[in-house]
Amino acid sequence: MQSGCEQENKNKVCRSRGGESCAFDGAMIVLQPIADTAHIVHGPIACCGNSWEGRGSLSRKGMLDRMGFTTDISEIEIVYGAEEKLSCAIQETFDKVRPKAIFVHATCVSGLIGEDIEAVCTKAAADLGIRVIPVNAPGFVGPKNLGNRIAGEVLLDHVIGTGEPPPPFSSSLGKGGLRGVINLIGEYNIAGDLWLVEPVLNAAGINVLSKITGDASFEEITWAHRAKLNVVVCSRALINVAKEMERKYSIPYVEVSFFGKTEMSKALRRIAERLQEGGENIIDKIPLHPPFTKGDISPSLEKRGQGRFFQIESIIAREEKQLEEKLKIYSHLKGKKAVLYTGGVKSWSFISALIDLGIEVVAVGTKKSTFEDEEKMKEILGPDAPLIEDVTPANLRRLMKERNADMLIAGGRNLYLAVKEGFPFVDVNQERHIAYAGYEGLVNLAQQISNSVRFYNENRSYKSYKTYVDKSLGTSVVINPLKHSQSIGAAIALQGIDRALPIIHGAQGCTFLGKVLITKHFREPIALASTKLFTEDVVMGSEEALVKVTEGFIEKQTPGLIGVLSSGLSEVKGDDIQSAISNQRSAVNGINRQCHIVHIPTPDYEGGMETGYATAVEAVLRGILDKSRKEIRGQINVLAGLHLTPADFNELREIIESFGLCPVFLPDLSALDGSREGSSPLATGGVTVSEIGSMNSSMFTIAIGMSMEAPAKYLYGTYGIEYKLLESVAGLRGSDDLMITLSAISERPVPEKYVRQRRSLSDGMRDAHYYLSGKKICTALEPDMSVQTSAWLNEMAADVELAVIPCCSEAADRINSKRTIVSDLFSVNGDFDLLISSSHAADTADRLGVPLYQTGFPVYKVMGHTSKTTIGYRGSLAMINEVANVFLHERH
Ligand code: SF4
Repeated sequence: MQSGCEQENKNKVCRSRGGESCAFDGAMIVLQPIADTAHIVHGPIACCGNSWEGRGSLSRKGMLDRMGFTTDISEIEIVYGAEEKLSCAIQETFDKVRPKAIFVHATCVSGLIGEDIEAVCTKAAADLGIRVIPVNAPGFVGPKNLGNRIAGEVLLDHVIGTGEPPPPFSSSLGKGGLRGVINLIGEYNIAGDLWLVEPVLNAAGINVLSKITGDASFEEITWAHRAKLNVVVCSRALINVAKEMERKYSIPYVEVSFFGKTEMSKALRRIAERLQEGGENIIDKIPLHPPFTKGDISPSLEKRGQGRFFQIESIIAREEKQLEEKLKIYSHLKGKKAVLYTGGVKSWSFISALIDLGIEVVAVGTKKSTFEDEEKMKEILGPDAPLIEDVTPANLRRLMKERNADMLIAGGRNLYLAVKEGFPFVDVNQERHIAYAGYEGLVNLAQQISNSVRFYNENRSYKSYKTYVDKSLGTSVVINPLKHSQSIGAAIALQGIDRALPIIHGAQGCTFLGKVLITKHFREPIALASTKLFTEDVVMGSEEALVKVTEGFIEKQTPGLIGVLSSGLSEVKGDDIQSAISNQRSAVNGINRQCHIVHIPTPDYEGGMETGYATAVEAVLRGILDKSRKEIRGQINVLAGLHLTPADFNELREIIESFGLCPVFLPDLSALDGSREGSSPLATGGVTVSEIGSMNSSMFTIAIGMSMEAPAKYLYGTYGIEYKLLESVAGLRGSDDLMITLSAISERPVPEKYVRQRRSLSDGMRDAHYYLSGKKICTALEPDMSVQTSAWLNEMAADVELAVIPCCSEAADRINSKRTIVSDLFSVNGDFDLLISSSHAADTADRLGVPLYQTGFPVYKVMGHTSKTTIGYRGSLAMINEVANVFLHERH
């Protein structure tokens, strides 16, 4: 049997290049679940920053899988080499978290500059006395699948066969083996899948020796070569491990799936069969279960093998009976229709699971499936299986409607397609939070589908929803990064421009991981594309790829603006993006298409999310504005920073308009307030390109957040448009500054409505100060957000003991804190009453034993963040009350 990657027809496999992340991410997916080992990502911030905490594996063997480690290499280190920094990072990681082993992952940039990771690892291993293992899967070598396979090879070369199991396995193995000892390969314990399967296996007398790699310890993988059978759960990813172990250690393997009743029962029978073929008799060891009693061997079971499977059948009968009982309350799902789009083994095993629930599968997306997967789909659904290759959002939407489907079962990336269209949706990919494996997992699946169907039936309106500053980190390793790459900031900025499309010029992983991260925060469809560079483009030159991708989008989607974001890979390669774009601009003008193409330099080895955002805003202004200026009375430019929520943009507009002014926001992130309709590869809503074109005629510019001063200065320097920089528009003083500025520009008094809101805020602040004053706060936020937050906390007489920011910024000096450091979340230490940071800081708050108030980016562990107003009198009052409530709840 062959994995997808080894199929003869490579084209089929290569199609998976389109919708997936990169080889680096694939290797991390396989190796990171080993929770007592550390994974150092050797590269600039993007690779680790966009992906840590993004994978759904769970473990009881350690905490390190939930942490991110990166060398976060800078431009200077790219020029002079970062091997020394990597050595220090390995040592620091060892000192700080005492891992059982360390994996060091190459990325596009470290791969391209030729870092000798292997030599560094060999030396570090000798110095530290633990295994330090290089993983050479930089993103440009291929898609996620390839990374999975490379990780499998790493385990074969460096881990499997290097240890021996302890008792009881060791003693039994010596005497012919503990009964039913298997390895599970390709089971990552997503959302706890394994924990629903292992008890059933144990009850059936099947013992799991090593898990590769969900809920695994490093040590248990070292003795995997002692198992009697390898059970491959995701054939596409790690079949190479099973094949090599068969060759090297004579361990046979069997491929199964644990999703759904039919597949789970089939899996138990196949495992038992293969163990018995290998001389393993598992039946004496296990108790009988109702409905069977000793000697009660049914004729059909006899026929299946003279009672050999008696106990297995007994377990299956017990589990299926219990399942049947539990599924009774979901009988209303029978006859419903589903469109399914997922990848690998799930693509066919979820068909089977849905059929178990009586749900008809009316279309199956096959873009991420191998030919072998497709054959299995046909085995289940028959030769006329409704397999669909085109899984673009537009086609999925069409299929849902044409086939009268009741639900979409797919990966999280399709969530917002479903939400916008009002389709019940269940996420079955690796980002999910619910376990679906085993018999119990099918009950969970039924419950999720049922909840979703009920919700949309009861909310049909959704259908019509058309809808002292320490600036040096001083360490070589960044653990649990606070920092995000510049391209993330630039990509967010372009979401606020109607019909804009950011394209990251680099390997596909950055875009994939970035899109997942931004989507998670805003809970909206996000426009972000990639030029998808692979090894051949890296060697031969990639400007052609850029031109091809850009022209493809111009032809098909007619965007108003394309922002080409450079990545660490394209910058280090030295691509001349600017001239590629200039040539293309003439070609585009030649075919008379109205599309602006701007180059936004966002290398991920310098700056951070805020600088990327500001760079994008300035690049758009430079790219769109012409030289002429004819002042438009009453029009003002608003350059609002990344620290404002979409709801803040709406609030700001309302405030400005109440002064009789006409604001042009760049960008206008109110487009991400949940009002986006349908799904499009382009950003929809927000400021239009023609509105941006008028910004050189505005009478004034307001820049909100220090990072936005640079584009405001550009407008001033080029067009003489005066500007005012507002460091904060929250709290009493920040809101007052905004009102005073608007009053001065418009020459009107502050409207009565805001005078009244001000009184409410003053009163609310007095009420809330009982809970906030004197409290010791730690903030871990982007610089502009830190300035604003520290300002209103100071008004509440709370003390910002420590402000942690991700990178150096001029704003650092303006943070009203006792101490400000450039650092990561792992370095946050001290005696605080509250931590204010993003969702990434949940574990940090647990470690410190303090509550976490979630804000900044990304926020995905609380609902409603993007619809929260946090500025102006009204928004500030709401936010202050929320924070005060944290302390109020603590007290009671
Ligand atoms: S594609 Fe992006 S995320 Fe993947 S290794 Fe390359 S730079 Fe990192």
